[in-house]
Amino acid sequence: MCDDTSGAVDLKTKPHPRVCTECGETTVTPAEIAYDAEVKHDGRLHRFHISRLTIDRCQRCGEEFFTNRTDEQITTALREFLGLLRPQDIRRRLGELGLTQQTFAERLGVAPETVSQWLNGLSIQTRALDNLMRVFFGFASVRDVLTADGPTRNLGLLTAESGVPYER
Ligand SMILES: [Zn+2]
Repeated sequence: MCDDTSGAVDLKTKPHPRVCTECGETTVTPAEIAYDAEVKHDGRLHRFHISRLTIDRCQRCGEEFFTNRTDEQITTALREFLGLLRPQDIRRRLGELGLTQQTFAERLGVAPETVSQWLNGLSIQTRALDNLMRVFFGFASVRDVLTADGPTRNLGLLTAESGVPYER
C-alpha cells in the first residue's frame, strides 16, 4: 500500500461489498489495519503511527484500498499528532466570542474559504496560523489590535524610546 490517497474511493456512492478493481470480484469490505503514516504538511514530512486505520480490503485477492474515510482518519490523526486546534475547538471559540467565520477570517488576515476548510476538516492550518489563532482566542489585547481593518502600521514597532505607549 502506498501513501498516495488521491485515488480514494467515494463510499457514498458505492455500498459494500464493492467490486474489486484488481480481481473483479464483488468482495471488497471494510477492514482495520495498523498503519505507519508519512504525510507532508506545512513544508515538512511527518511520520506517525495509526493503530486502527479503516480501509477497504478485497476478501478474495487481498488488495487494499484507501477510501474517503481513510483520508479523514489520517487527517485527524495528523492534527492530533501535531497538537493543532481541532475544528470543534475553533468552532467553539468562535461561538463563545460571537464571531462569524467571515469576521474571523478578516481579523486573522486569511480568506473566508480558508477558515471554512479548517472547520470542515478539509485542510489543516499551519503551525504559524495555529499559533495566531491561539493568541487571538487567548488574549483580549490581541483581539483589540487585530481588527477587520488590519493592525495599525506601527503595531509591534513601538518602543519605550518612541514615547508612545507599548506593551512589553
Ligand atoms: Zn480482489
